[in-house]
Amino acid sequence: MFRPNEDYLKLPGSYLFSTIAKKVNAYQEANPDKKIIRLGIGDVTQPLCPAVIEALHKAVDEQASESTFRGYAPDLGYEFLRHAMAENDFRARGCDIADDEIFISDGAKSDSANIQEIFAKDSKIAVCDPVYPVYVDSNVMAGRCGDYDKESGIWSNVIYMPCTAENNFAPELPKETPDLIYLCFPNNPTGEAITKDQLQVWVDYANKVGAVIIFDAAYEAYISQDNIPHSIFECEGARTCAIELRSFSKNAGFTGLRLGATIIPHDLKVKFNGEEVEMHRLWARRHGTKYNGAPYVVQRAGEACYSVEGKAQIKDMVSKYMKNATYIYNGLKDAGYEVYGGKNSPYVWLHTPNNMTSWEFFDHLLENANVVGTPGSGFGPSGEHYFRLTAFGSYDNSVEALERIKRL
Ligand code: PLP
Repeated sequence: MFRPNEDYLKLPGSYLFSTIAKKVNAYQEANPDKKIIRLGIGDVTQPLCPAVIEALHKAVDEQASESTFRGYAPDLGYEFLRHAMAENDFRARGCDIADDEIFISDGAKSDSANIQEIFAKDSKIAVCDPVYPVYVDSNVMAGRCGDYDKESGIWSNVIYMPCTAENNFAPELPKETPDLIYLCFPNNPTGEAITKDQLQVWVDYANKVGAVIIFDAAYEAYISQDNIPHSIFECEGARTCAIELRSFSKNAGFTGLRLGATIIPHDLKVKFNGEEVEMHRLWARRHGTKYNGAPYVVQRAGEACYSVEGKAQIKDMVSKYMKNATYIYNGLKDAGYEVYGGKNSPYVWLHTPNNMTSWEFFDHLLENANVVGTPGSGFGPSGEHYFRLTAFGSYDNSVEALERIKRL
């Protein structure tokens, strides 16, 4: 008789956003006349920029003619996109990254979930708390996290690094030595970032203890301060200890198109059984076996993000969201809330008032302001008493939501 993968059965049932959707639907059904403003989920709302649309149309037309038709993409991505990324995202910032160290994919979610496969099964992971849930859940599925304690929301074999107002949302080096360290800055959900000097401490630590940092740079386009790194490869020594994840979702609005990349330097290698093993080789092998590549038309759309027009249009899109973030951040401050994030990120992270739990505040906001946000506790135990609002809505909705919150 077949058996299910028991590691999957260990995952706690209800996914954060489905619980939120159920609550919101129930409220809307009971109060059909109320206009609910959703500042909860992290999806973008602005359309793709003209440079991207133009590239898509052109690439679609190419698919209609025998002489320009493209079938399977190269395993690791088209050279035109890898080159554009390497030039613009890395070499222009002084990061020593070669075109062939970039692997094109369908986004940072799948890459952040899959990357653990190329490491030993008994690798110990360290994550920030609160955290984007995919890092932990994918390691649970791989049988790496031990057992889940429902009361505390903690897995027995995971190193948690709390990020709260007490440490300015910057994780401290763990006491126990991890093999894999997941870092995401600017952070989802806290919206806070760390400086290049702070990230350098992590790179030095990883090199010293022989750990790998998996650095999720999905929100780098939102960085406004000069001392915050856009890539971990801005740090000295990162080539021997880091993997970076990139996404076109939040900068260029590709949440529906799907495009991302993973960067693995050839210098990330380890002596194993007398052989020097490059992690680049393992990820290339995985890509070749399990993935047939992001669509040609989407990769052409990605390339268009690096044209002069594309860059300007994307910058404009990001600044529209950042205008919302600034409005939400300042409005909450004026209303007397303790507020974080929102400066280098589309996420604003607030401390719940009157010691309410995250879910109590969720209900309070839904019922009394008809505004939907995300309870911080859904991202990990240290997210309790915090709450996330996103800047991905329209400006008018952000303004109206804040008016309502101020009236509470
Ligand atoms: N990484 C982080 C930290 C995210 O918050 C998200 C999406 O919300 C992703 C990755 C997923 O990005 P993608 O759309 O490229 O899969």
